[in-house]
Amino acid sequence: MRIAIFSDIHGNLEALEAVLASDEMKSADRAVCLGDVIGYGADPSACLARVREKAERVLLGNHESAVAHPGELEYFNGYARTALEWTRAQLSAEDLAYVSSLPFAYREPPDFLFVHSAPRSPADWTYIVGLDTARAELSSFGETLCFVGHSHVPLAVEAPADGTSQLIDFPVRVEPGNRYLVNVGGVGQPRDRDPRAAFALYDTDSRTLSLVRVEYPIERAQEKIIAAGLPPFLATRLAAGR
Ligand code: ZN
Repeated sequence: MRIAIFSDIHGNLEALEAVLASDEMKSADRAVCLGDVIGYGADPSACLARVREKAERVLLGNHESAVAHPGELEYFNGYARTALEWTRAQLSAEDLAYVSSLPFAYREPPDFLFVHSAPRSPADWTYIVGLDTARAELSSFGETLCFVGHSHVPLAVEAPADGTSQLIDFPVRVEPGNRYLVNVGGVGQPRDRDPRAAFALYDTDSRTLSLVRVEYPIERAQEKIIAAGLPPFLATRLAAGR
C-alpha cells in the first residue's frame, strides 16, 4: 500500500493540481492532508474542494483555525493576516463550517500519527525545524511514524529504541523498532529554497518513505495573487522557495 501525505497548500491551486496529477500521487492508495489548505494564495475555496475530493482525512492548520476563530489573527504577521482576512471573505458558509470542523490530529496506532504542527501540544502550533525541536516532541507519541507540516521545510528524524535520535536524508528506510518524525514540506509555499511543490509518499511494503518534488506553473499562481490584490511578497516568495 502507498500513502501520500501532503500539507500547506495555502490556496495555491496551480501547485495542488500539479501534485494531484503527479505519477507519485496517482500511485497512492490513500492520501492524508495535514492542513493549511488555505491562506496566502488566491484560490482558497477551489483548493478546499480539491483536497476534500482527494484526501480521506484533512487536519486543522493554524490558517484554518484563524479563519474559524478570527481572534487568533493577532498571532499572524501582517502578510498572513491580510491574506487571511481576504481568504475568509472568499469562503462560502459551507467552506467555513467545514474548516471549523477539522481535527488537530489523526491517529492510526501502532503505525501512524498525523498532525499539522507538532504532536506534544498541537494547539500551540510549534514549528519543528531541526533536531532540537524534533527531540522535544519524540517522547509525546508512540506510533512508528509521526507526520507533520507547518514549517514548509522537509525534515526527517530517526529515533532508535536506545533513546538517541538523528537527522536523516530522504528517502527514509523505516527500520523495525525505530520511530520517525517527518516533516513533509509544503505544496503551495515551499520554504527550503526549492520552489517545487513537496509532499511525502510512504510505501508500506518496501517500508520506504520518499519526498516527492513537483514543478508547477509558478507564474500563473503569482499572477493570481497580484490580481487578487494580495501582498506582492506572497507572489515573489513562491519563485524563491522561501
Ligand atoms: Zn502553513
